[in-house]
Amino acid sequence: MLRTFAYVRPGSVSEALKQLDGPGSRIHAGGTDLLGCLRDGVFEAQKIVSLAKLDELRGITVAPDGELRIGALATIAEIAAHPAIAVTFSALSQAASLVASPQLRNQGTLGGNLCQRPRCWYFRGDYACTRKGGGMCYAVGGENQYHCIFGGGACVIVHPSDTAPALIALDAKVRLIGPKGPRVLPLEKFYVLPEQDATRETVLEPGELVAGVVVPPPAQGQRSGYRKVRARGSWDFAMAGLAHAVTLKAGKIADARLVLSGVAPIPWRLQAVEKLLVGQKLDAKLITRAADAAIIGAKPLEHNGYKVPLVHGLIEEVLGAAL
Ligand SMILES: Cc1cc2nc3c(=O)[nH]c(=O)nc-3n(C[C@H](O)[C@H](O)[C@H](O)COP(=O)(O)OP(=O)(O)OC[C@H]3O[C@@H](n4cnc5c(N)ncnc54)[C@H](O)[C@@H]3O)c2cc1C
Repeated sequence: MLRTFAYVRPGSVSEALKQLDGPGSRIHAGGTDLLGCLRDGVFEAQKIVSLAKLDELRGITVAPDGELRIGALATIAEIAAHPAIAVTFSALSQAASLVASPQLRNQGTLGGNLCQRPRCWYFRGDYACTRKGGGMCYAVGGENQYHCIFGGGACVIVHPSDTAPALIALDAKVRLIGPKGPRVLPLEKFYVLPEQDATRETVLEPGELVAGVVVPPPAQGQRSGYRKVRARGSWDFAMAGLAHAVTLKAGKIADARLVLSGVAPIPWRLQAVEKLLVGQKLDAKLITRAADAAIIGAKPLEHNGYKVPLVHGLIEEVLGAAL
């Protein structure tokens, strides 16, 4: 049963920051993840701070220089339907279109998608697991078919968002605002591995919120996309996915950013593979080398070994389509 909590709906960001005054104060955007967590007792709330009236956090704009700015309260559906995003920032458009179901995309916001809690059934269930401050990750020796093959350790969750890997492939920055003022950091640096802290997913400080993201204009010749593999075609979280942004110049790869979803506790950037690709002409031999390099260091658990060939195949498929 849901415990009693206070509910406030501030009219400005500065008022919202004043209301986020303790660990029991929780941010409510679309509520599609928050309310499930509260109902399932994953965590509690003394106060819910709704962002609904904060128009300053809404909107999607493309600046004259081509920079894309998205407010934290933009819905996933708005991002998926935005014509300029579809043409110029395809990875984000495709990722947003593949998030959950139409109802969830209409209600869920970008800020909530980036900050949603992990979907591990032990974390969501009645287990005092490492992520909840307990002493053990139950998935390590348990049901781990959807868990990570990279970056695990004290906790083997996978990061659940589709938009985050796409935005990282596009080199996005996240705008944060908190009691100490605003700050901007690469979205890649927003996420935290279990080895840094297994009880939180992001670097958000107490009382801080996501205000929006900024995506730089793409380099000339950049192509981007997001390929997601899921158990059900209608809606599901990624078993594995690959966001890419690759720039070709004079037949060679001038720049490459590749980010996996569904296989690590954070969006998993394949920097070694990117390095291998840059400066080369894309051919079948190079694609095989890239796919082989992508799975180096994978540490599958008892029931998720299938993710290793899945990642290998994703690299082959996505780079192969660019030939
Ligand atoms: C059945 C189901 C299937 C789903 N499938 C997918 C999927 O395939 N791919 C995918 O990417 N996602 C999926 N999701 C997750 C869904 O996309 C998220 O629930 C949604 O994007 C969260 O947005 P929201 O606005 O509803 O967030 P809320 O539920 O309001 O918030 C989520 C969390 O983020 C925090 N938060 C919200 N906004 C901010 C902010 N601006 N700053 C700081 N913290 C904030 C909240 O406090 C809360 O902890 C699924 C969810 C469900 C329920």
